[in-house]
Amino acid sequence: MKLPVTTPIMLWSGSTYVISRLKEVRREITRNCKAIPLIKAEQLTERYRERAIIGGYRANYSCAQVVLSLFHFTNETVNIWTHLIPTIYFAWKFAWLSSTLPLFSEAYMFPLACYTVTAILYPLASCMAHAFSCTSPMATYVCFFLDYGALALYSWGAALVYYAYTFPEAAFNTWYASLFLPIAAVNCISAMMMACFSRFVQNQSLSQTLRLLGFILPFIWDSIPLIYRLLTCDAGSDSCESFPFHVRQFIYVSIALFFYASHIPEIFAPGCFDFIGHSHNLLHLFGIIGTHEQIQGAMIDMSVRRGPLKDIGWIVSPAWSYLVTPGLLVTIIVLTLIATQLVDHLDPFYSSAGPCCFCSPQPTNGFIKLHDRLPVPCLPSDQSKYNNAVINGMVKNGIVSNSNNKNGIVSDSNNKDGIVCNFHSKDGIVGNSNTRNGVVSNSNSKHFCIANCNLTNGIINNSITSNPEHKNGYINQYEKKMQ
Ligand SMILES: [Zn+2]
Repeated sequence: MKLPVTTPIMLWSGSTYVISRLKEVRREITRNCKAIPLIKAEQLTERYRERAIIGGYRANYSCAQVVLSLFHFTNETVNIWTHLIPTIYFAWKFAWLSSTLPLFSEAYMFPLACYTVTAILYPLASCMAHAFSCTSPMATYVCFFLDYGALALYSWGAALVYYAYTFPEAAFNTWYASLFLPIAAVNCISAMMMACFSRFVQNQSLSQTLRLLGFILPFIWDSIPLIYRLLTCDAGSDSCESFPFHVRQFIYVSIALFFYASHIPEIFAPGCFDFIGHSHNLLHLFGIIGTHEQIQGAMIDMSVRRGPLKDIGWIVSPAWSYLVTPGLLVTIIVLTLIATQLVDHLDPFYSSAGPCCFCSPQPTNGFIKLHDRLPVPCLPSDQSKYNNAVINGMVKNGIVSNSNNKNGIVSDSNNKDGIVCNFHSKDGIVGNSNTRNGVVSNSNSKHFCIANCNLTNGIINNSITSNPEHKNGYINQYEKKMQ
């Protein structure tokens, strides 16, 4: 039998095929990368930036882009996967538990069932929030409200499971025991409200502190009985079997909180940890390992103390599981809806237009409504050149300036304590510019109208205008046109 001979022609055609396939793969990757554009922190309003994270941001993505971005490196990819994988694992664990234990038929098991569900919901809500928050400013709010709600509900689940299986015998039938669950329920709602409210606080440090405080309070309250047992337990007894898990859980959660509060390591090298290894990645990682330890510890307590607790008659009323837990879930959903309605009123920086301020955009023939209400120093200025564009710039304490527009409209620029100036428009309209304590000036236009400029304590200068309203200011060298 004759063996096949590898000729140079065969080698050539083979390598050509491989190279063409590689080129195809490269083209596909390039096409996908273009489909998920990443932007820098400076292109975003301050509210959407993370401290010391410079790049890898996503903004105004479609759902398809979000899904695609799961498989590319953005500054949220690790955040998403570090909670998506545990969600799947915890869901599998829950399915396994429900097939091996009477989770839904025995009252003693109800707290474990409730707790496990909350332990699935919080990483699920978190990974959804990190994935879809970039689709719109309102999505950012809704996603993170639900994220906070799920975390608050998890704090309730932990309280319930501790009360059912971990509570120290010394505290049974005391005023502390009778108050433990009602206060945990109040903590759950207050944590949710504090976290939601924190999103309306403009000072980033204060906002983070409020959020942290909101969740630390229930954590401390829930942990008091456990700490008491850790300190008083007889080391050799069965009831101490779960303690290594509980101790490790405290350690992991403390590490997670440390990274969340300190922004280490990215504050030491801004930009170096944008895609992997930043503090929020570490928060997720250590937090979820802590939850895993807590589940293990709770299951051991449930199993080891089953007999002694039943002998004493310590069984949590099922109403806490099948009435209060769903009740808290509904309350959280209602609070999310209420908070969503308040966004436009409570967040002065909110713009339904988009999270991006576009400091130096180059759009043409488009409808530009992404000049968010910007804090200084992110200014849409100098290089904004539009053709046939509609611009809705909203700025607080900043400058909307030097926007050159041809055949279009520069309008609805709301500015507080700043300057709306130097709009050069040809055949268009500069209109509805509202400023307080600022200047609307030097707007040069041909065949156009500057209309409805409302000004308090400022100057409208060198402008052709109609219907100006001013108070305590100057309208200087303008020609009033009747419409
Ligand atoms: Zn997160």
